[in-house]
Amino acid sequence: MSARDLTRPRVGVLAVQGAVSEHEAALADVGARTSRVRRSEELAGLDGLVIPGGESTTFGRVAGESGLLDAVRHSVDAGMPVFGTCAGLIMLADGIAGGGPQPLVGGMDITVRRNAFGRQCASFEADVQVPVLGDPPMRGIFIRAPWIEAAGPSVEVLAEHAGHIVAARDRTRIVCAFHPELTGDRRLHRMFVEGLRGGSAPADEEHKGDTRVGAQ
Ligand code: GLN
Repeated sequence: MSARDLTRPRVGVLAVQGAVSEHEAALADVGARTSRVRRSEELAGLDGLVIPGGESTTFGRVAGESGLLDAVRHSVDAGMPVFGTCAGLIMLADGIAGGGPQPLVGGMDITVRRNAFGRQCASFEADVQVPVLGDPPMRGIFIRAPWIEAAGPSVEVLAEHAGHIVAARDRTRIVCAFHPELTGDRRLHRMFVEGLRGGSAPADEEHKGDTRVGAQ
């Protein structure tokens, strides 16, 4: 391992389904080492975890049967930082509004509504202003996206679209309803990885700022 590797957090990408390689590319761009997590043992030694989009019920079923869901919940409850996009956001929620029970990781004090933007605009793109990231707005790619219907006091709202919360964070989690891994905008991935480093980004990183999440 080179000296520089010590500043490169190890981030696992849950590889049950979804845009795994796109998240790996985004994480590599902001200086993280990545590995795929398909089995519980592959959580060992990680500094953080990404849960990509996909279908949260499929995640719950596949990862539930294999024991991976329990292992992820255990790691996240023990403080492992996690970044969830779209279905990943759903997986991290403490509750689902208007839907039947489904297996979740849980732990974040949010209630989400699945497929919330309705049939007419099931998938769309929109500029999303994320004040902690400054300008320009992020280009949000929403694909049968959820929104956050309610958030508790431990949760900081990061962005809203059409009056609904679409990105948020708490001490160890960042979630967004859209798909930043499908654009070239790395600012949310950078915020996550900088939080894992304790804020000390390598010298070649731009956009340094006080955007860490409390990872330790
Ligand atoms: N609609 C999906 C769900 O409810 C999420 C869609 C996505 O991740 N792009 O799980």
